[in-house]
Amino acid sequence: MYRTNTCGELNLKHAGAEVTLSGWVQRSRDLGGMTFIDLRDRYGITQLVFNMEADDALCKEARKLGRECVIQAVGRVRERSNKNLKIPTGEIEIEVNSLKVLNASILPPFTIEDETDGGDDLRMKFRYLDLRRNPMKNNMELRHRMAMEIRNYMDGQGFIEIETPAMIKSTPEGARDFVVPSRINPGQFYALPQSPQIFKQLLMIAGYDKYFQIVKCFRDEDLRADRQPEFTQIDCEMSFAGQDDVLNAFEGLTKHLFLRIKNMTFNGPFPRITFNDAMDRYGTDKPDIRFGMELTEITEYTRGRNFNVFDDAEYVGCICAENCASFSRKQIDQLTGFVKKPQIGARGLVYVKYNKDGTIKSSVDKFYDEAAIRKWIELSDGRPGDLLLILAGERVSTQGALSELRLEMGRQLGLINKDDYAPLWVIDFPLFEWDEETGRFYAKHHPFTSPKTEDISLLDTDPASVCANAYDLVINGVEIGGGSVRIHDKSLQQKMFEKLGFTDEQANEQFGFLMEAFRYGAPPHAGVAFGFDRWVAVFAGCYSIRDVIAFPKNNSGRDLMIDSPSALAPEQLKELRLKIDNRE
Ligand code: ASP
Repeated sequence: MYRTNTCGELNLKHAGAEVTLSGWVQRSRDLGGMTFIDLRDRYGITQLVFNMEADDALCKEARKLGRECVIQAVGRVRERSNKNLKIPTGEIEIEVNSLKVLNASILPPFTIEDETDGGDDLRMKFRYLDLRRNPMKNNMELRHRMAMEIRNYMDGQGFIEIETPAMIKSTPEGARDFVVPSRINPGQFYALPQSPQIFKQLLMIAGYDKYFQIVKCFRDEDLRADRQPEFTQIDCEMSFAGQDDVLNAFEGLTKHLFLRIKNMTFNGPFPRITFNDAMDRYGTDKPDIRFGMELTEITEYTRGRNFNVFDDAEYVGCICAENCASFSRKQIDQLTGFVKKPQIGARGLVYVKYNKDGTIKSSVDKFYDEAAIRKWIELSDGRPGDLLLILAGERVSTQGALSELRLEMGRQLGLINKDDYAPLWVIDFPLFEWDEETGRFYAKHHPFTSPKTEDISLLDTDPASVCANAYDLVINGVEIGGGSVRIHDKSLQQKMFEKLGFTDEQANEQFGFLMEAFRYGAPPHAGVAFGFDRWVAVFAGCYSIRDVIAFPKNNSGRDLMIDSPSALAPEQLKELRLKIDNRE
């Protein structure tokens, strides 16, 4: 028997018991005639003690043990004189009488401690060592507990988990597909699913009216901190359900997770705000509503004073930072630097200081008289002592920059409480998104999303203004999930493909099977999918989803530990009938 107990469970109740523990040497200390070893396993740390007087040879052996050696120790539990009340086993120690090295360890490339000295790349390369650290272990446990809670809750609500294939044909979710060559069908390829979207719709047609799945999805897109080429979704679909049914059902799941995992309850329904309101009030479709400082549009009150920056702008808007009129030149310059960063993209920052004594100082007072400036202050509910920060330019990008500035100010002023959680639904997304570069419409959500019935007639006349039955769940400024009511009518789906620029042949080639299925009694259906990794990261308080994925890829899409992706052997390429074109 390797162990009678784990390293996390012994306490004073066990005093006097003879136990066997196995684990890793976390650290050891020699104090006079004694050697102490912290023995670690998944469950905790237990102090082992070796006494030179009692057994000189054993103590010497213990002194030789390096960090991360795997050992087995047999001994007696006894009360500790120097107690550590911070850990559950801190009142006892094991007086060891026999020791066995199960496996030695070479020196780890970084310290296996909560605060490690290992850089990102090193931790990725030796991920199995990184996973030994408490913060990672806690994240893995949280992830597991959330998955269990989700499965239990969904099961209790009558949903069944059904697996869908990973080698399929393209499902468009707005990214490139990862593809897998087929050896037995030379020249042909499977696509890895960007989501199980089409399969879950086919399951609705098959009559499985409440489906869910915790499932891997694959998207070949530029990577950011919160993106991974493969990630996990909680994918869900319901038949005979509309938007409210889905929102209510999954608000239930969300509240359940908050209660079971964070011990938090929410009174009443989550706020719901439309996409347009979210953009106008927060400048983003994933607002962090833990604090105010909403955007105010002042475009029409800035025209005609020969200030070209505002005159030429499609949108002029501001935020009002309470009690910040006393900001120094340097602080304003820093904010200007912030909004001018390429990823924020503003060209400059205009400020208005509404001083405590009621006077006004602005960077544009050459162009605007006091009455004009007071109007902006009034529109944004400014009070003496406040600071207006104004940006101007193209509407959406300027709103986006203001949104970033709002978050930055929220952080600087300590307005964001990290223990606060503010979930909301953003609804009524536009159906299409216009892409300047390619000069065509794309589906804002995906091509299977239903327009609002009252907007169907606008599909031909004014596609840009068509509103979709689509919704997102946002928590603390993070898009946790999104979904839509689906099209279940063949001709409307055909029209959607046409609007998205598919020829009949292309639509048929890619989605013929779905169109065919629509002819066999497709029920009305709707669904949603949540980014499981993101949800775990938000609950764990982590910035990056990498911290909640056991074996993630780095920013270049590489797994540094197994060194993947990697080249194929020439025979493999030949078998797949592939040739690598090395030209740039
Ligand atoms: N398939 C969608 C996505 O992955 C979610 C949904 O519409 O259910 O974003």
